[in-house]
Amino acid sequence: MMNDTLNVAGIIVSPHHYIDGQRVVSDETFDLFSPIDQRLLGQVAEGLAEHVDAAITAAARAYPAWSALSAAERKVYLDRFADEIGKRADAFCILESNDAGVLLSRMKHGVVPRAMLNITWFAEHALTLQDHAIDTEQAHHMVRHDPAGVVAIITPWNSPLMLATWKLGPALAAGNTVVVKPPEWAPLTSSLLGDCAHAAGLPPGVLNIVQGSGTKTGARLVSDPRLARISFTGSVPTAKWIAQTAGANLIPCSFELGGKSPFIVLADADIDNAAATGALMYRNAGQVCLAGTRFLVHALVRDRFIAAMRNYVEKLNIGDPRDEATEVGPIIHPRQVERVQSFVDRAIAGGAELLWGGAGHPFGAQYYQPTMLANVRQDSEIVQNEVFGPVLTLQTFHSDDEVIAMANGTDYGLGGVCYGETEHATHIAQQVRTGFIWVNSFGIRDLAAPFGGIKRSGVGREGGEWSFEFFCDVKDVIVPKKPFRASFSHR
Ligand code: NAD
Repeated sequence: MMNDTLNVAGIIVSPHHYIDGQRVVSDETFDLFSPIDQRLLGQVAEGLAEHVDAAITAAARAYPAWSALSAAERKVYLDRFADEIGKRADAFCILESNDAGVLLSRMKHGVVPRAMLNITWFAEHALTLQDHAIDTEQAHHMVRHDPAGVVAIITPWNSPLMLATWKLGPALAAGNTVVVKPPEWAPLTSSLLGDCAHAAGLPPGVLNIVQGSGTKTGARLVSDPRLARISFTGSVPTAKWIAQTAGANLIPCSFELGGKSPFIVLADADIDNAAATGALMYRNAGQVCLAGTRFLVHALVRDRFIAAMRNYVEKLNIGDPRDEATEVGPIIHPRQVERVQSFVDRAIAGGAELLWGGAGHPFGAQYYQPTMLANVRQDSEIVQNEVFGPVLTLQTFHSDDEVIAMANGTDYGLGGVCYGETEHATHIAQQVRTGFIWVNSFGIRDLAAPFGGIKRSGVGREGGEWSFEFFCDVKDVIVPKKPFRASFSHR
């Protein structure tokens, strides 16, 4: 029997769906465990077909009125929504730390402020959405960005609050109504977004949240022909499945997927700086899509770089994510720990050299030592496939051409990092085939900038105007400048 609320470390959160402005119970539930210590956090509502249908129906019903508001009117609601997130900042931090294992310090200083900005920034920028015009000799073209309709948003467990708001902000600001399907391993902060929407007075049906598994709830959601868009962040196999299903109904999808990004260290790099940034790749226990996980280090500086990075890695504070001093927390699920270990075991069996790590961490069952594997072949599994854990590889190169070929030599193309003399590193970075790449830095993100990957790392871009392009129907309203008389000689 499901409780009406969950109490997670003193924070009260609803385990139910949020549909049409109300909490909705389910006859089926799933157990939710904390990655910190495997304790049962409670039972959460599983989204059955009836819940998915009700959520889409509610969103479709809310769409005409919400889309008819001006962007300025929607901004009033969305600013209040962001305020409500801010009022619950501590609750968001504690919940996501407990159900996803994200560092409390990162939640407090990074994720929650960013979640609020994800809403307010897009609400503000939607004000200028309809301003685009093209003037030609013949006509005035008003290029409109009209909201597409009912949008499905599906998120993964590694950063649920950040990713849900990153998609909700532009989708709602543009005038769409939304159904969110949060990750089954970390649904609690998305549930709390329902409370925020309610307290902010968002009209019923504008934002709906249906929890549940991917194969049941998610699959049902993306099969519905009433959707106008699907924005998905997650793994490649799931995206392929969604693409086929949504393709049957010609529903446009945006896919932000996995990565196997290069971290290049040129011979003229500031080695200590590069090594300090290198240690950051273990952030969130390596469960970060945009991390540079393949270290490509010039042979001349290999030993110096390894020594410098080892120095930083040895000092990493691994432990309970609720402790403000912790730098690396747990892996999300026992299955994921097994997956990480099996990748490492196969790599070592195939001849990889273990520079550090390689096993679980004594802090607890779901903690894993930061790991580095060298002497790995470009075509090996560990170089070609995303591990999504604290496991990195290191290869050496001798020339610019060689490192560019290695950087581009996987099926992924999300991000990258390139350390070296600025002009040299920028030149290399320009030739790496990914959606973005940082030169002598890592993690600088701006909401105005495009974000996404190429090849197996994704389809389409979100961020700034690219989010609006995706969540809107672009329409040209053509008004001739001279009186128009129909004639067959007209083109
Ligand atoms: P996943 O694909 O297993 O699940 C992601 C979401 O999809 C979950 O909510 C899940 O329930 C849902 N889902 C699963 N099967 C579904 C189906 N058949 N139909 C509809 N929905 C379904 O991914 P994950 O393991 O939760 O997340 C890890 C992956 O996400 C990694 O590959 C990581 O690189 C990627 N990721 C990418 C980005 C990015 O921006 N590029 C950001 C974060 C994570």
